[in-house]
Amino acid sequence: MPVLPKKKVGLISCSGEELPEGMLSRVATLQALERLRPNETVTLCLPLFLAGNDKERAFAKFYPTIAIDGCDKRCAARATEKYSAPPTASIVIPEFLAARGLDAPKTRRQMDAAGERAADALAQEIAQRVDEILGVKREPVAEPQTAAESEAVTATCSCGSGIPVTRLVIAGKEREIVALPLIFEQFRNDGKTPAELFDAVKIYNAIPAELEAAYREAILCAYAAHTLEKREG
Ligand code: SF4
Repeated sequence: MPVLPKKKVGLISCSGEELPEGMLSRVATLQALERLRPNETVTLCLPLFLAGNDKERAFAKFYPTIAIDGCDKRCAARATEKYSAPPTASIVIPEFLAARGLDAPKTRRQMDAAGERAADALAQEIAQRVDEILGVKREPVAEPQTAAESEAVTATCSCGSGIPVTRLVIAGKEREIVALPLIFEQFRNDGKTPAELFDAVKIYNAIPAELEAAYREAILCAYAAHTLEKREG
């Protein structure tokens, strides 16, 4: 039976090259992805968001996300919100450093001791936010979970997430719906009602209240076509 993919948290680091905090964002995000929470996170590529990659955007609609920004311009958080959905959590590094009494690295190209301390603390903060979002309680451990200890390292770019995007004409305009075939298959197998189906679609897609009736009609039509196709196939 097809199942919806395992829920993970998407980490979106800003791509700042001009500030040491931009480098800090990328280093700490990588630590969280590869060392601290390899099985619970994927990264989302900010440039692909801006370039209009459907899979990146579908991922952020489908999964909770954390934006990690190097300054208060909050490029990662704003791009995520604009092109997909508001991030579940947002970390602005200067605020984080000030709250912890930590310093950014002196230069934007090289880590120093202060930068490493800040990156470690930031990676731990990201990992803790991941746990909170996923509702995971962890016993304190002496050493962080390492990639070698985990079953399968999945610190991958979400480009490979494989969440489908379906385009339906709704209220006279083509609109994107994420994960529709996966939801259809799960509901067909479970024998649930069309009302439940629409509720499931709404979990993964932001549907404007004023267009709900039009969305419902289009999605139920698509579901009928999908069911017919499966029967005949
Ligand atoms: S959030 Fe700040 S550091 Fe990051 S890309 Fe935007 S302007 Fe650059």
